[in-house]
Amino acid sequence: MTKLIATLIGSGTSYGVPVPGCFCEVCCSKSKKDKRLRSSLLIQKINENNKEENVNIIIDAGPDFRRQALKYNIDHINGIAVTHTHSDHIAGFDDVYSFAIRNKQIPVYSSLGCYGGMVERFGYIWEKEKRSEYLPWHEIKGNKQFEIEGIPITPIDVVHSVAQTHAFRIGDFVYMP
Ligand SMILES: [Zn+2]
Ligand SMILES: [Zn+2]
Repeated sequence: MTKLIATLIGSGTSYGVPVPGCFCEVCCSKSKKDKRLRSSLLIQKINENNKEENVNIIIDAGPDFRRQALKYNIDHINGIAVTHTHSDHIAGFDDVYSFAIRNKQIPVYSSLGCYGGMVERFGYIWEKEKRSEYLPWHEIKGNKQFEIEGIPITPIDVVHSVAQTHAFRIGDFVYMP
């Protein structure tokens, strides 16, 4: 039997929770619920009969990507969809890049506007041919559905402070930054 599982591997604000050097009530809280990594979602397609076919998709790779991969035992990634170009959603691409070199090519899906921000920040990945082959980029056009490993994903426009921000709908589940 194949099933899809969505795990919120980060739900923090752009600086995470707690914020270093902040002494507010939330940052000083001892509650586990006040320890939050930067926003990201892990979608897994689990084939209970054949583990080799298991698929991991990540939405956004922020500055906590490395910690999230270790914490949630993410040993391979089949694709990444990016909601928008703010740092807390793309700052982890240096670690994603090293992950791809050691494992396998990871296709990356984003709007053209978002890609512009990624290239500006990680020119050494996407402007040099030999490196971009590890993280091949695919454009999300408008609200046109795309697929990662046979899983249909529908982009939805979100009003945010940067242009071209997307939420993603998978089946009856929506992840909206
Ligand atoms: Zn605080
Ligand atoms: Zn943002």
